[in-house]
Amino acid sequence: MTDTRMLIGGGRPAVDPATSMAVTSPVDGRELGRIADATADQVHDAVTAATDAFRAWRRTSGAERARLMHLLADLLERDAEELALLETSDNGKLLRETRTQARFAARNYRFFAGLADKIHGRTVPLDAWDTFDYTVREPVGVAALITAWNSPMQLLANKLAPALAAGCTVVVKPSELAPLTTLRMAELVTEAGFPDGVVNIVTGGAEAGVALTTDPRLGRISFTGSVETGQAIQRAATAALVPVTLELGGKSANIVFDDADLERALPGAVAGIFAAGGQTCIAGSRLLVHERVHDRLVEQVAETARRIVLGDPTDDATQMGPVASQAQRMRILDRIGRARTDGAQLLTGGGIPDDADLARGSFVEPTVFAHVDPASDLAQQEVFGPVLATHRFADEEEALAIANGTEYGLASGIWTSDVSRAHRVARELAAGTVWVNTYRYSAAQAPFGGVKKSGYGRERGVEAIDEYLHTKNVLIDL
Ligand code: NAD
Repeated sequence: MTDTRMLIGGGRPAVDPATSMAVTSPVDGRELGRIADATADQVHDAVTAATDAFRAWRRTSGAERARLMHLLADLLERDAEELALLETSDNGKLLRETRTQARFAARNYRFFAGLADKIHGRTVPLDAWDTFDYTVREPVGVAALITAWNSPMQLLANKLAPALAAGCTVVVKPSELAPLTTLRMAELVTEAGFPDGVVNIVTGGAEAGVALTTDPRLGRISFTGSVETGQAIQRAATAALVPVTLELGGKSANIVFDDADLERALPGAVAGIFAAGGQTCIAGSRLLVHERVHDRLVEQVAETARRIVLGDPTDDATQMGPVASQAQRMRILDRIGRARTDGAQLLTGGGIPDDADLARGSFVEPTVFAHVDPASDLAQQEVFGPVLATHRFADEEEALAIANGTEYGLASGIWTSDVSRAHRVARELAAGTVWVNTYRYSAAQAPFGGVKKSGYGRERGVEAIDEYLHTKNVLIDL
């Protein structure tokens, strides 16, 4: 059983059973544990602990911060299997996906550990000869890190690794729907030897989030979640003018041209939407196919979707697990119902699997719609489930109009054998990431983030550390 107590200033306050929240498995509905619904006072205490710890942590050398971060990565690698099982039980992702994410998280801590002792400013020549001007890059202070339930370990690493490398202290709030691996991190940061108060973890839902994001002592808020919550957080942060990083939703377009290698595009399109049951911000939830290859490819995608094996996410034979909760399943089924009313053609799926073994979990059939109106709800709104909208296009111009015709701008894919077209279309796509002849490829070195309503700011890559630093200018009159 995971220790579900919060981590505040090195202490682990007991979970009050009277106000605690249940964490349940999406696979079979069983209760996995109970977490605290943090009070405003507890959140305040966590920010106080982080504020106190910041004084010494900001003076700790980059080399020492890096040493601790490498130790944390060692512990993540040591416990990767246990963490992967825990995350799978908590959010229903396939065990092979959570195994990959545990390794990816460790890689992120190592990548940013490598930057911790390479943060430096510039000497700045001024007009006046007898002056000396230089800049230093300093940590912004206490960072609030708020994450979603779909990839807790990886989302936390995207934020915690650059924050620690920069010299910030943090208060983390994972989603109440899948908090267990983040709470396990409480033990790992303590074992790695991070000083008390450098990493604090509070649990709870929207109220705990509001208490955290309205604290005027923060130097940065980094949030991953829905557009609506992102907007609420930006409003909350306005009063104290706390800067915000927002990693929000997506409605990403995977565009297949008629000169594409369809043998590669087919699995790319299928994994683009159905990996993690479509519950990823980068899901390639719109498949745009050139009219010359449209019917063939869309039918192959639907046929592959029909054969996807649903089941226990810890079973190697399973290709798709449940969605994260019953409430999420209801939302997805509602979207499917609306798409049918809007006249989209259902090629496969569309409901709950007819299988007694899956009855207690929140499973949804892999679903493919054809001839979706680009203006319809299904083409415009994030479903966050295994539902693919497909569109036909005649030329590059039409493909770009459809691809860029939503409020989102997170990711996109281009499948083509024409390198000029790949560059040309990549430049025109309104998206933070463009993949060419691949999809979902994530790397610690590659910056990630959105444009338009998918948010702003970048995680991963050397750019990410800038979110946690500000520049101080020092001018000396010689
Ligand atoms: P959500 O917005 O409901 O919740 C995210 C987090 O915010 C949770 O920890 C929640 O407790 C907290 N929260 C809720 N209300 C709050 C408030 N008023 N103030 C402060 N915190 C509050 O999102 P979700 O359902 O957990 O996650 C799904 C969404 O996340 C999808 O839209 C998905 O696209 C997005 N997402 C984006 C990325 C990315 O990197 N761009 C990655 C993963 C998920």
